Amino acid sequence: MQSGQNLYDFLKSGFPKGPDAPCMTLPDGAVIAYGMLEEESARVANLLRALGTRPGDRVAVQVRKSPRALFLYLGSLRVGAVYLPMNDAYRAREVEYFLKDARPHLFVCRPEARTMADGAALKAGVPHVLELDDEGEGSLAGEASAQPAVFAQSIGGGDDLAAILYTSGTTGRSKGAMLSHRNLAVNAETLVRQWRFRSDDVLLHTLPIFHVHGLFVATHCALLSGARMIFEPKFDARRALRLLPDSTVFMGVPTYYARLLAEPEFTRELCSKMRLFISGSAPLSVETFERFRALTGHTVLERYGMTEGGMFCSNPYEGERRGGTVGFPLEGISVRVAGENDEPLCAEQVGAIQVKGDNIFRGYWRMPEKTREEFTSDGFFKTGDMGKWDAQGYLTIVGRSKDIVITGGLNVYPAEVEQIIDRIPGVAESAVIGVPHPDFGEAVTAVIVRRENEQGVELTEDAVIGALKGALANFKVPKRVHFATELPRNTMGKVQKNVLRKRYGEDDSSDPIETP
Ligand code: AMP
Repeated sequence: MQSGQNLYDFLKSGFPKGPDAPCMTLPDGAVIAYGMLEEESARVANLLRALGTRPGDRVAVQVRKSPRALFLYLGSLRVGAVYLPMNDAYRAREVEYFLKDARPHLFVCRPEARTMADGAALKAGVPHVLELDDEGEGSLAGEASAQPAVFAQSIGGGDDLAAILYTSGTTGRSKGAMLSHRNLAVNAETLVRQWRFRSDDVLLHTLPIFHVHGLFVATHCALLSGARMIFEPKFDARRALRLLPDSTVFMGVPTYYARLLAEPEFTRELCSKMRLFISGSAPLSVETFERFRALTGHTVLERYGMTEGGMFCSNPYEGERRGGTVGFPLEGISVRVAGENDEPLCAEQVGAIQVKGDNIFRGYWRMPEKTREEFTSDGFFKTGDMGKWDAQGYLTIVGRSKDIVITGGLNVYPAEVEQIIDRIPGVAESAVIGVPHPDFGEAVTAVIVRRENEQGVELTEDAVIGALKGALANFKVPKRVHFATELPRNTMGKVQKNVLRKRYGEDDSSDPIETP
């Protein structure tokens, strides 16, 4: 990447020469060519400029996955705005927090959420709200279509911000990870080289595009190599079986692999054109890794990274891919497993995973103090993950220091859910943990201590889940709620979540248990 270059221009350097080269194939068979991607993202960039968007202004987006959502991302890059995608499962309370914190110039929402969006935008002082529906229509598309299809000179780049992605905080307060054009470009360049992406690749793209995995890792690899994407609105195992024979690369979270394996019609023949299966965002179990290899003959390549810096480690393209590990540090990225004083540890010693490189983010939005805390004195970012090297230099992640629950590849931060549970009448206190789940990897599980003598309140599992559904995105709502008379605590007064995980992780009864 040239210094100061805009990420869009960098990605464009990999586009095929002819404008008709296919970029995306859609479920209805329609094809979006690279020329159209350029024109449509130019229209969005022109629209954003017409709305008075200045370089560095945030563009917040909460829509379903569609090609136009991708045009919106690219148009935002081209005009120098900062793209802020949100999980479409977020509810009013969450959206309001993001808008108030990020103060975007524009909020793009689904038509179904317009009333909520207007309310949140008004409270947060967001001047413009536009709509984009699941088919890619709505006021955003309408207004963009009236704009010129050329946007000659991209604005900003290099160390300027390209995107802010909110990661939840363990204290319940979400943090906006600020990523620059350069952060994203260097990681994309490394991954294309490492995973040998080529223009004749066909990427089966089934991940959401509000998250680092689907938006940056998958999309950037395809665009920078001028490849084609089979662009699906979401992952569906049965559809994937139909699309795999036309694909060469697949990226997924471990849940997708488990679901593919659960399909009786999933066979080795369906994967005959495939050259690479990549997994990440959560640990791929060795059992799934082995079963996948036995059935398909393909060894899944597991990689490791996070919102704050894209990808850090990957199993090798050539050479042995080891199940249960995330491979080696990527080129240009320093990864260390550190002890209490940030000193590098030897093989087999468990320590904190710390990373440094041009891909590491610029800090948390409007949280300079928090940002400083998350870096060591010699400039390494503290990932919050714990790991160890083996003798051959493969990294294994042994756990998360902060008790994050990863369900279906999405992170749930217990503190945020606990805070909301504790507000329910009749609740004395609560603890949220992740317990192993065959489909989601982990299932969010709550343990609640009832308040004694609370009159007129009947606190049941269904009542708690019902109360949480209106307040939280569905993936954060506990799948099970257990009631206990007290929470186990250590001498420092901290809830011992490991004890709870052991107690409730082994339970598979379908009724809530009353624990003494
Ligand atoms: P996110 O920022 O949502 O991408 O989540 C990043 C977190 O997901 C990391 O800090 C890890 O805890 C976890 N993670 C990502 N990839 C893997 C992997 N291959 N194995 C285990 N955990 C992973």
